[in-house]
Amino acid sequence: MNFSNLLIIWYLQNKRNLPWRKTVNPYYIWLSEIILQQTRVDQGMAYYLRFVEKFPTVKDLAFASEEQVLKLWQGLGYYSRARNLHFSANYIVHERQGKFPTTYNELIKLKGVGDYTASAIASICFNENTAVVDGNVYRVLARYFGIKTPINTTEGIKEFKKIAQELIDVKKPGTHNQAVMEFGARLCKPQNPDCSICVLNNSCVALSKNQIKELPVKLNITTIKKRYFNYLVIQTEDNMTKMEKRKKGVWKNLYEFPLIETENNIDELQLISHEKFTNLFEELHVTIKLFNNENVIHKLTHQHIYTKFWIIKTSISINISHPWETVKEYPVSTLIDNFLKLYKYN
Ligand code: SF4
Repeated sequence: MNFSNLLIIWYLQNKRNLPWRKTVNPYYIWLSEIILQQTRVDQGMAYYLRFVEKFPTVKDLAFASEEQVLKLWQGLGYYSRARNLHFSANYIVHERQGKFPTTYNELIKLKGVGDYTASAIASICFNENTAVVDGNVYRVLARYFGIKTPINTTEGIKEFKKIAQELIDVKKPGTHNQAVMEFGARLCKPQNPDCSICVLNNSCVALSKNQIKELPVKLNITTIKKRYFNYLVIQTEDNMTKMEKRKKGVWKNLYEFPLIETENNIDELQLISHEKFTNLFEELHVTIKLFNNENVIHKLTHQHIYTKFWIIKTSISINISHPWETVKEYPVSTLIDNFLKLYKYN
């Protein structure tokens, strides 16, 4: 039996019962695939169910405000996914008269949809013969064939895509793709794969050559940047504060307290002499208290954010127009959300 047949039989006997596996509606498959990029199934499940309930059709998603979509996405991270979903839903409804793209070539034109997602939707929903290559597929192929080409290089991306495409079962491309991904997620896992019960263990190169821990190869090209955030959490006597909409970066269009970003850790004296601070509180009487003595360190893929929350109490609310009781309605980052869970404003 060949690679694909073995995996499909294994898949049909072992697949998890997941809600997006009960449908071939491209809108639902698209939602699930975008949510599951960079997110574990157990975490993504609740978000998928919430999105399907709140926005049962692509039209419902398109007609929602971006703020509603971001609020529902809150806590999942990589917020560009939510912004792109909303943008593409609008594109489908307004530019394509609500007709969902049905081919790989059309799907890949959607904002936020790359080779992986276009292949997944095209094969699962429209039986198109396009192989998916995600982290799980890289791992299975690298180990089974003993491929040492780094997966995060142009050469590696091309090589793995070509092999994946050659292996696909042209009669059942969707099932084949899901089988390889599920097999990588559940059996050929990153740590301690279950080789003893693996249906491929007779012919797996990594197993026979004892190379499982070395494969797949990934070049270490990530550099982590340190950033220093000082949030000004304003608290007026009449329970008002100030929130701002972030203009760029991964948290674009999410809300946050006025932010002073600095090159290094700063103390209170350096804070009050900062231009943004003096502009905000010019001639106002304020008292300042640091909320967290230790920096809160928020880790994103390429950056670690060292954060201080400064509680600024003042009696006057000029330009400070957000009542505290409405703050939780705004879409915010997990960093701000965690702070809000701890802070008692009155
Ligand atoms: S034998 Fe082990 S390493 Fe090889 S494909 Fe199976 S689970 Fe993965």
